[in-house]
Amino acid sequence: MNGREPILPGSTIGVLGSGQLGRMFTIAARRMGYRVHTFSPDEDTPTGQVADVEVTSPYEDLDAVCSFAKGVSVVTFEFENVPAATAAAAAECAPVRPAGEVLHTTQHRLREKTFLSRAGFPLTPYRRVADRAELTSAVAEVGMPAILKTADFGYDGKGQYRIKSLSDLDGAWQAVGEREAVLEAHVDFECELSVVGVRSVGGEFRHYGPIENHHENGILDTSTSPAAVPDRVAREASEIARAVLDELQVTGVLCVEFFLQKNGNLLINELAPRPHNSGHYTVDANLTSQFEQQLRAVCLLPLGGVGQWTPAAMANLLGDLWNNGEPDWTAAAAVQDVKLHLYGKSEARPGRKMGHLTALSRNAAAARNDATNARKALAR
Ligand code: AMP
Repeated sequence: MNGREPILPGSTIGVLGSGQLGRMFTIAARRMGYRVHTFSPDEDTPTGQVADVEVTSPYEDLDAVCSFAKGVSVVTFEFENVPAATAAAAAECAPVRPAGEVLHTTQHRLREKTFLSRAGFPLTPYRRVADRAELTSAVAEVGMPAILKTADFGYDGKGQYRIKSLSDLDGAWQAVGEREAVLEAHVDFECELSVVGVRSVGGEFRHYGPIENHHENGILDTSTSPAAVPDRVAREASEIARAVLDELQVTGVLCVEFFLQKNGNLLINELAPRPHNSGHYTVDANLTSQFEQQLRAVCLLPLGGVGQWTPAAMANLLGDLWNNGEPDWTAAAAVQDVKLHLYGKSEARPGRKMGHLTALSRNAAAARNDATNARKALAR
C-alpha cells in the first residue's frame, strides 16, 4: 500500500488519547464498520469503554507506541498534548494523520502564534515572556488589562492569569509556574466564534460555518449554530479557517477559535488540531458530524456533506452539576428536541466535562434557551 489508498470499513483505526473526543470519534467509526484501538496511560476511559481494544501505557513508552501503531491501519489523536516523540514513534510504524508537525505547532502557544503571525493571520497582540523582568517590559508594551498564559499545555483557561495592575505581576508570574509564558492583550470582544473545518489529503475543504461560543470561567459553556453574525464576518471567518488548514497542510479536522472585536474585526485566539467541543452539536444537527469528517479525512475517503437539519445549540455538563448528587436525568429526557450525551466518566470533579446536551430548534436563540433550560432541569 502506498499510503494514499483509502482505508476501508473493516479496517482498524488507532487513537492516541482516550477522552470524550475519542469516544465520539469511535462511535462514528464503529457505526461505519471500523474497529478502533485506543492508547493512553489510563484505564476504563471514555474512549476505551466503546473501543475494541484499550491499551493502557505511558505515552513515553515508545516501544508500546510502535507496537500499537503496527496493529492499526492509521493513527490519529484526540488529545493535542500527546508528546511529539510519541507521534514520531507512531509515524515510524503506521501513517499518522494529521501529521505530527501539526500537533507540534499547535500544542505550544508560542509556536502556534509565531506560525500564525509569520503567515500573516490576525492575532491578539502578544509578547513572549521568559522571565520576571520580561513580564514587566511585556506589560509596558502590550498594556493592561492583559492575560498571562503558560506557553505549553494550556487549555480551558488553565494556566492563565489576568493582569489588571502592576501589583498583579508577581502573582501572575507565580501562577504560570515561573516558566515560559505568553502575555496577551485582553480583547474586549463582541463575541467568541469558532469554525470547525476539515481538509482532505488532496486539499478539499469543508466547514460548518461560524459557531457562537460563550465561556464561563475560561471553560466553554454553550455553543450555538449558526452564529448571529453578519454574512461578511461569517465569510471571513470561514476563509481564514480554510487558509489556516491549508497553511498547516492538515489532513483531518481543525478548529479555529476567534474573537470578534466590537469594530467587526476577527482575531484568532487559538487552534485545536482535532474535533472540538464547539462542534459537538454536529452529531445531532448535521448530515456528517465533525467526528465522521475526521474519520473520512484520516481514512482518505471523500468528505461528507455538512448540511444542517435545523439551528442547534450545545450546553456543556460540568462536574459541578453533581454537587448535590446524581443529576435528574428523567427531567432532562422529558424536554423534547434535546439530546443527552454522557462521556462515561465515573468521577464528577468541579469543572470536569462530563457530558453535554444538544437542542434543535427553529432558530439558534430558541435552541440555546432549550439547551440551557434542560440543563437547569437536571440540577438537584
Ligand atoms: P484559551 O484557553 O486561551 O482559549 O482561553 C479560554 C477563554 O478565556 C477564551 O475562550 C476567552 O473567553 C478567555 N480569554 C482568553 N484569552 C483572552 C484574551 N486575550 N482576551 C479576552 N478573553 C480571553
